[in-house]
Amino acid sequence: MFRHLLNIRNTRKTQTMAWFCSGSTNNELIENLFKAGLIEHERVKDAMIAVDRAHYAPSRPYSDSPQPIGHGATISAPHMHGHACEYLIEYLKPGARVLDIGSGSGYLTHVLANLVTGASENAAQGQVIGIDHISELTDLARNNMNKSEEGSELQSSTKVSFITGDGRLGWKEGAPYDAIHVGAAAEQLHPTLVDQLRAPGRLFIPVESENDGSLSRGQYIWVVDKKEDGSVHKEKVFQVSYVPLTDAPR
Ligand code: SAH
Repeated sequence: MFRHLLNIRNTRKTQTMAWFCSGSTNNELIENLFKAGLIEHERVKDAMIAVDRAHYAPSRPYSDSPQPIGHGATISAPHMHGHACEYLIEYLKPGARVLDIGSGSGYLTHVLANLVTGASENAAQGQVIGIDHISELTDLARNNMNKSEEGSELQSSTKVSFITGDGRLGWKEGAPYDAIHVGAAAEQLHPTLVDQLRAPGRLFIPVESENDGSLSRGQYIWVVDKKEDGSVHKEKVFQVSYVPLTDAPR
């Protein structure tokens, strides 16, 4: 249902909704996203309410817009974080293993960790690895998470770790993953990432559309499912605007 809603939503409407979703507190922002239908699952709402965006986007924490975090990177808008969790939710069960590529501020890594870890017995195995190719940003993500007791505990228990490396290669040491999120636009649907999915598992990735010489070049989210029998199904779901997944700056 949610997927169909997104398919028909045009950019202008999303921007208008986003404007109305901004809040004066973290709770207000997330409740507004929920009321607008941009977040549908209570689990996603609770995981986002539990992470104060002020620790990750200090300039305008409760605005539903992307914010610069230095080194040419941005923290994505809250509604995009919500969409990513909604698309991955079936694969974010307590105990799941997750890779967050282009972890940037560390905000989504923290939210994903809230979804797959917790007090239940099943949740004990839950782990999220954030990977970014700029070491200053993996440091920033660690520091941001350490601003809260819960974030600090997730790191000291190694349920969350941040690694500096080229996310286009995934992180095979931690594979297989139930879910892989990519937070920057790839030039292609990297097969290595699909290889690192569990069966079943799901990849959420923005990809630059083929440059066919027309003016219609753009980025689209692809949802790639590896089924239990190992077969792979790909679906192009909606248009987006992300910073590119690139070579590391020298
Ligand atoms: N999810 C993050 C998005 C940050 S912007 C957030 O909301 O905070 C995208 C990030 O992708 C940037 O931090 C950038 O440094 C990172 N990135 C770009 N190319 C990369 C690559 N090849 N490998 C790993 N990270 C990359």
